[in-house]
Amino acid sequence: MSGPPLLEVKDLHVRFPVDTGLFGRTRRWVHAVGGVSFHLEQGEAVGLVGESGCGKTTLGRALLRLTPLDSGTVRLRGVEISGKSESEFRPFRRRVQMIFQDPSGTLDPRMSVGESIGEALDAHGLAGGRDERRRRIAGLLESVGLDPGQAERFPHEFSGGQRQRIGIARALAVEPELLVCDEPVSALDLSVQAQVINLLQDLGRQRGLAYLFISHDLSVVAHICRRVLVLYLGRVVESGPTGAVMRNPAHPYTRALVSAVPEIDPLRRLGRIRLGGDLPSPIDPPPGCPFHPRCLKATDRCRSEAPSLAETAPGRLVACHFPEATDPGVSAED
Ligand code: SF4
Repeated sequence: MSGPPLLEVKDLHVRFPVDTGLFGRTRRWVHAVGGVSFHLEQGEAVGLVGESGCGKTTLGRALLRLTPLDSGTVRLRGVEISGKSESEFRPFRRRVQMIFQDPSGTLDPRMSVGESIGEALDAHGLAGGRDERRRRIAGLLESVGLDPGQAERFPHEFSGGQRQRIGIARALAVEPELLVCDEPVSALDLSVQAQVINLLQDLGRQRGLAYLFISHDLSVVAHICRRVLVLYLGRVVESGPTGAVMRNPAHPYTRALVSAVPEIDPLRRLGRIRLGGDLPSPIDPPPGCPFHPRCLKATDRCRSEAPSLAETAPGRLVACHFPEATDPGVSAED
């Protein structure tokens, strides 16, 4: 593909201060995202997976500047947006939109869904005249599989799945190039999840939309994403083409995640790998490899030396001193 990628993230760090100790006198730092780099092309869907608390939501929010960056760069089609002032950033805001797990956060309960969508159009000067505005709202509702005649209804009159569709319509209203989807289906029933995922796939194909799909659910990511990044304590520990990573995970953490999902590993080739202990605190991450306290393969080297993310096969990156061999037969993009 020629030209710069749609999104390019380099060495992104996000920290939060927390005041601890007696009377909160000791300031410490939560290292939520610790040096993440990746890129995303137009029309591509990339998954970001990991346990709750691994930093994936913070990373997604940092891309939209809903959470401030500590350091690193974010480029949109080659233009750095991370260092821009709020007014300089405004023209770029429309191009990257977020879909939340609970769409209620973006839908005002006192506004009809038509007004909510119209508000997004107005904010970016896309509404046109009154008739054009009405026509656009109807078109957007139709594009997400809702009856345009329901535009006058209020959010509480819709089911959870329908509200998520309205949230998607509102995000699409401003004609974005990238949707950051944060656990968009995890609060929905299984049958509704499938419908919303199929809708996102269809919209992606029709509009050339790119997705950063944040989820703890590997089976959802495997369904929709061409590439995947596995995050642990704010760092990428493995990345590559989704099919290759799922069939042949190289990092012990990825192997444990894959082994827990029967749909991903139907033959149970890996056997269930149970992780010991909880995710360590990002305030005080372990020395060496951050996964070592939970890793069955950990050695003295792992306890003192942090592994860097290195290529193990074309398109496959793994941060482990002793990765599983990546089968060249499944390493290429698929
Ligand atoms: Fe496990 Fe060591 Fe690899 Fe870390 S570097 S994942 S502790 S084997």
